Amino acid sequence: MIRWSQTLLNTLREAPQDAEIVSHKLMIRAGMMRKLGGGLYTYLPLGMRALRKIEAIVREEMDRAGAQETLFPILQPAELWKQTGRWESMGPGMFRVRDRKEAWYVLAPTAEEAFTALAKSEISSYRQLPRTIYQMQDKFRDEIRPRFGLIRGKEFIMKDAYSFDADDAGADKSYRAMYEAYVRIFRRVGLAAKPVEADTGDIGGNFSHEFMVFAASGEDGILDCPACGYAANQERAERQTAPVPYRAEAGAAEPVATPGQHTCEEVARFLGRPLDQIVKSLVLLVGGKPVMALVPGDRELSETKLRRLFGGAKVEEADPETVARLAGPVGSIGPVGLDLPLYADRALEGAADMVVGANKESFHLIHVSLARDAKVTAYEDLATVRAGDLCPKCGKPLEIRRGTEVGQCFKLGTKYSAAMGATYLDEQGTAKPLVMGCYGIGVSRTLQAIVEQSNDEHGIIWPAAVAPCQVALLILDTDVPEVVAQAEALGAELERLGIDVFVDDRAERPGVKFKDADLIGLPIRVVAGAKGLAKGGFEIRRRTERDSAIVPPAEAAQAIAGMLN
Ligand code: ATP
Ligand code: MG
Repeated sequence: MIRWSQTLLNTLREAPQDAEIVSHKLMIRAGMMRKLGGGLYTYLPLGMRALRKIEAIVREEMDRAGAQETLFPILQPAELWKQTGRWESMGPGMFRVRDRKEAWYVLAPTAEEAFTALAKSEISSYRQLPRTIYQMQDKFRDEIRPRFGLIRGKEFIMKDAYSFDADDAGADKSYRAMYEAYVRIFRRVGLAAKPVEADTGDIGGNFSHEFMVFAASGEDGILDCPACGYAANQERAERQTAPVPYRAEAGAAEPVATPGQHTCEEVARFLGRPLDQIVKSLVLLVGGKPVMALVPGDRELSETKLRRLFGGAKVEEADPETVARLAGPVGSIGPVGLDLPLYADRALEGAADMVVGANKESFHLIHVSLARDAKVTAYEDLATVRAGDLCPKCGKPLEIRRGTEVGQCFKLGTKYSAAMGATYLDEQGTAKPLVMGCYGIGVSRTLQAIVEQSNDEHGIIWPAAVAPCQVALLILDTDVPEVVAQAEALGAELERLGIDVFVDDRAERPGVKFKDADLIGLPIRVVAGAKGLAKGGFEIRRRTERDSAIVPPAEAAQAIAGMLN
């Protein structure tokens, strides 16, 4: 039994100024955590208990899926990160520190390098494969905008797992096992998290799922199909392409003056045409080589899709001088008469009577048929998807929703093993790179995401599996020895049944205790008062209900156990 009178716990009437979302406010107000600095939080005793329960569920499911727990240092030598190039590519998001000998270290933001180094030293033969290992540990990231409490911290707890296999088929199997463990974990902690297809930005054949919690405050956009369940993050999402409707040729291409009109919107307004009749032309450098991408004027180019098309090559926008040299002045460029490789969005296949830039300042061409007037290299899925577009799986309209990622599964392939020389010998004695996957869960983020999803105007509603305690036992008349004795007896019996009890034994008014119990949000509230006991028993109710039942002391423990099952 945990007694309030002996616990470091203060509830607050007001949320701090910087708390923007309900879960952040409630975590602070209910005394679950306190801020130490920007993006840095201390877990207080009740919050810690909930955190430990989540960690226990994650561990159980990892172990059940065949993964083994390890623990790596947080402080990692820069050398390790230089081997994969991430010492440079991680940029300012990674915390770097020096020791007294001026040697550089990283406060690990993730741990692919360290795990791959371990695999390299420990795994030498196909006989040792597959292996999945994990840890639960603090990670550090110098986020541009730490906010929302535990949702985006500078320091946070992550469970990260890494799988090592002999080949692709094995890696897919390991991935599947982790994916399924994730589904079970989020179900068990009481969080509705949906796996969505995510971009990998990596070389073909690799894939990734993000486990998303839908929330208005979410920083990720997700295209979600309510009809068939398809979901993908905005960068990755595909659509059934509806071709632009301008398909009949309207004569030869013809230049028109468009003085001072540069954006697609301006040109459309100026010429009195719909936005999707204008072609948006962009010059990009893909792996350093220039290409032109074309999308309908009412859409955006997805650089992610372009990068995927080129096997993960780096995609950058060309600077204005380069654009001018290769095509024309920015705002007046188009595909006609160009020698660049041209990649057009599928919606433009067969498009005629389009408007494109004339590669001449303040001129556009009308009546352009792409097939006739431009040398399009390929029509591909290149545009971003938006709400109302048709689901690529079932053809019904997609919705766009906001979400926060609580976990991610990632098939890495041989990216890290090849870079670090982590190989094994196959049955023929040939050295091959290990095929890897990595799998993260934001454990501290999950804690707060649960609160974000499960609350009402009175406070938190903890799912029983992760609640700091399952029962709040409120002793109203702490000065009446009989009441205290009955409450204590019930508490002891509940503990014997394996139910944890939080006793509010403060000398406070009933109204204060009720309010606090609602705010803290334990699944079951039991009131022990002189009046109630005289009427026949304890008043028992669920956090989600407003009416209590009076239960005789002799039956109370069993009744509570029944309610928790
Ligand atoms: P996000 O897109 O939200 O920044 P991420 O994709 O960068 O997350 P990963 O590198 O995939 O994050 O890390 C694995 C998990 O760690 C994430 O799914 C998320 O739950 C958690 N996480 C990442 N960054 C933070 C953070 N700053 N604070 C709390 N949890 C985080
Ligand atoms: Mg992620």
